[in-house]
Amino acid sequence: MPESGYESVVRDVLEGRLDARLTLECLLLVALGVRRLAIVAVPAELPDGEVLGAAVDYEFRSRLAGGASDLRTRFNDAIERRRLSPVAFKTHLLRSSFANNVLTSDSYRAHRAAARGLDLETLESEVRPTIREWYVCRREDEPAVKALLARRHELQKELRTKYRPEDPVTYYIYPEERDPEHVSALGAFLGYPGCCVAAYRRGRETGSGETQEMPEERAARQIREAEERAAEGAAGPGPPGRRGGPTPTAYWLKDFFPCRPDCPEAVARGEAALAALAGLDARLGLLYEDLLARNLARVRTGPESIREHENWLTRR
Ligand SMILES: [Zn+2]
Repeated sequence: MPESGYESVVRDVLEGRLDARLTLECLLLVALGVRRLAIVAVPAELPDGEVLGAAVDYEFRSRLAGGASDLRTRFNDAIERRRLSPVAFKTHLLRSSFANNVLTSDSYRAHRAAARGLDLETLESEVRPTIREWYVCRREDEPAVKALLARRHELQKELRTKYRPEDPVTYYIYPEERDPEHVSALGAFLGYPGCCVAAYRRGRETGSGETQEMPEERAARQIREAEERAAEGAAGPGPPGRRGGPTPTAYWLKDFFPCRPDCPEAVARGEAALAALAGLDARLGLLYEDLLARNLARVRTGPESIREHENWLTRR
């Protein structure tokens, strides 16, 4: 009897051939119907994303200097350099270096194959010549997700013309985050509770990155405050010393910021996710609990790690 897609994906994630976070949060939770859509940044969110990104940079720089490693590429690059404008030539090199290093990598192929095995659709969207996003959804949601992507591209074209040099770089890369309707629609697809999306939107709309409090900063502050309350011996459920502290299940996805560290809506989604994964295999439940703790830790140190990510994006 052929192995079902679920069986092979569960085995591969438990044996470390698939990345736990990407597979659980972005593939299995969509396949199990806990959320309708997941977005995966490629190569950044692949397990060897940093290595792949460095390989893309290295190939791009070598070829820009006229030093491609093989004769045929060197010859073709010399022709393209004469044919294209300097900017178009650079874009061509970036895209080609991305294809040579990322699209052919084992991790890229393994996670695409896992999505296919779970009967999921993976729509690819180019953010920059060396950054793509996978929009992962179930088949029946494909038309709606395509419409969402089309709207996003429209917004990008429109809003990038309004970009000012003093704006944070994320506004250039993800200008659609400034459109409240798009953010709400996207948040609902991703499975984010309405109250948390509203809190995120408020931060993005008014946040200039300096004077106002961005969602990442707000979320990190809320965790610190909750931990202080817990240390002071707040009343409520949970073990002594932890009462009133942040609830790990509220941090049920990476890059998700609950409106408060114990948001009941977010906690309910986290518990549903945990039950669905543990129902598939008890060991997945344990793996997911570990991810919850890591998500919480990441949001706690958020603003710094997010700034690092922005620097990484700027270098591309
Ligand atoms: Zn909330």
